[in-house]
Amino acid sequence: MVKRVQSPSSINTFLQCPRKYYYQYIEKLPTSPNINLVRGNIAHSTLEYFFKQDLAGIDEINYKEEFIREIQRIFFTQWGKYRDALKVLGLSTKDLKFYFEETLMMLVNWCNYFIEEITLMLEKKENIVDAFNSVKPLTEQEFQSETMFVRGFIDAIKYVGDEVHILDYKTNAVPEIKESIRLQLGIYSLLYNEKHGKYPNKVGVFFLKDKLHMLIVDEELVENAKQAIHIVHEHTTMFDKKEDYEKKTSPLCKWKSGQCDFYDVCKPY
Ligand code: SF4
Repeated sequence: MVKRVQSPSSINTFLQCPRKYYYQYIEKLPTSPNINLVRGNIAHSTLEYFFKQDLAGIDEINYKEEFIREIQRIFFTQWGKYRDALKVLGLSTKDLKFYFEETLMMLVNWCNYFIEEITLMLEKKENIVDAFNSVKPLTEQEFQSETMFVRGFIDAIKYVGDEVHILDYKTNAVPEIKESIRLQLGIYSLLYNEKHGKYPNKVGVFFLKDKLHMLIVDEELVENAKQAIHIVHEHTTMFDKKEDYEKKTSPLCKWKSGQCDFYDVCKPY
C-alpha cells in the first residue's frame, strides 16, 4: 500500500483514536470548523503580519506604544477578514465578544514579551530596525521529509546566540506541554535535523495567554517522535479498511460543550 505523508496532527490523531484517523485521513469525511481553530488562524495571521510590518515612523523612543498599537490594528483587520468563517460557527454575540476580547488580550500579552526582547536587544543594537530584525524569527517554514514521509509547518525558528530554537504559537486555554505537543515538537526537531544536519537546541510553545514554555531537545524527545512516526506508517501501509482502525473511546468522544467531528457516524457507545 502507498505510504502516506503524515503530519504532527495526523500522527496525533492516530494515537488518540485510530478510527478518527480513518474517518479524517482515509475516508476524508468533512470536519466541522470550530472557534479554537478559527481564532488560532486569526492569531497566527496577526503575528505573521506583525513581523512583516513597515517600521517607518517607529523609533527607539516610541516603539513600545507603536508595537502595541500595531498588533491591535492588525488583529482588528484579521478578525474582519475571518468574518464569514466566524459567522458559520453560529456563536452568540456574547460568546463572539468573549473570544474577540480574549484573543486580543493574548496578542497584547505576547507583544509585551516581544517588546521586552526588543528592549534588551537595543542594548546591543544601534537602532530599532536592527533590534527588530534580530528578535524577529523566521516564520511559517514548511518542512517535508522524503525519507520519513512527514511534513510540517513550523511557526517560528529563532537563532539565539549559537542556539536554534523552534517555536509554536498556541491559543490554548491551558498552558501545558502535554504529550501531543511534545510529539509535535519532537517531529519538528527531526524535520529540522534532516534539513540542517543538526537538531535544534530547544523547542517550545509560546502560549499566547501565558508565556514561552521551552524544552531541551534530548534523545527521549526525538526517539519518541521516531517511534510514533513508525507506528503510524506501519499500520497505515498495511491496512485501509475501517475495521482495522479501532475505536479508542475516551472523554474526547463527547464532552460538555462538544463532540468528536465523527461522533454521529462512529456511534462509539
Ligand atoms: S467518536 Fe470517539 S471512538 Fe469515534 S472516532 Fe471519535 S474519538 Fe474515535
